[in-house]
Amino acid sequence: MSFLPPQWQPSDTELADKTILVTGASDGIGRAVALACAKVGAEVLLLGRNEGKLETVYDEILRAGGREAGIIPLDLTTHDPTRYEALAEQLTAADIILDGLVHNASVLGERRLLAQTSPASWQEVIQVNVSSTFLLTRALMPLLTQATSSSIILTSSGVGRRGKAYWGAYAVSKFATEGYMQVLADELKATRHIRVNSLNPGAVNTKMRRTAYPGEQPDSNPSPEALTDHWVYLLSDASQSLQGETLSAQD
Ligand code: NAP
Repeated sequence: MSFLPPQWQPSDTELADKTILVTGASDGIGRAVALACAKVGAEVLLLGRNEGKLETVYDEILRAGGREAGIIPLDLTTHDPTRYEALAEQLTAADIILDGLVHNASVLGERRLLAQTSPASWQEVIQVNVSSTFLLTRALMPLLTQATSSSIILTSSGVGRRGKAYWGAYAVSKFATEGYMQVLADELKATRHIRVNSLNPGAVNTKMRRTAYPGEQPDSNPSPEALTDHWVYLLSDASQSLQGETLSAQD
């Protein structure tokens, strides 16, 4: 069931004065969320591995009248903690305080039985979908702590709540994402001003969905743009009561 209050829609200034970092902002849901946040006043930091695609999103934000975005080229297969710490130092030097962190980037990996999954694919999926979340949040926590009210969104999946054959490392990584969310939310509940929730987008017409379901009619699923209010709500002060929740954008 949707967690959005009935009829809730963001105002034109819903995220004014907020700085939001979105991972995997070059495509799919991350791109749509970045554009939606910019549309309602946020300064958006676009993190991804493909600088050219991030520049396209940057241009789209400017063309739509949004505030100038930041571009953060970072491949999340990187497991060196110093790369994440260097990013935090760079943002600190630019006097950035983070009001929102959307962990959205993920890879699907191999759609095979676990016993047939290659160790290299397992490693990549766990690194990009889970370990980079830990490394990035760990490095950026001082910037999130400085905001009067900040929101961390962990992107989950239906197969991270009920395991299914042939979803392999991806499903396991999404269970880990849920576990990470619960532990962090419990750690932060006393602080009251950093909230952490997981959000399952449901089936959405993106490159990942089309790859996972090649036989499916792509437009039988909603576009990423149709669902962005859920992310904007979770990033806005309207959602301050939500902490440690396991949420879904579709029924
Ligand atoms: P997508 O269209 O494949 O986009 C994934 C994004 O992650 C892209 O921006 C991609 O960058 C980025 N990314 C992948 N590997 C990266 C790396 N190593 N370093 C940095 N960025 C990387 O997928 P999506 O459907 O929008 O998925 C977004 C989130 O929703 C994921 O967490 C996914 O698990 C979740 N989800 C999606 C669905 C669905 O039906 N679409 C359902 C449930 C959950 P490039 O542009 O460079 O490829």
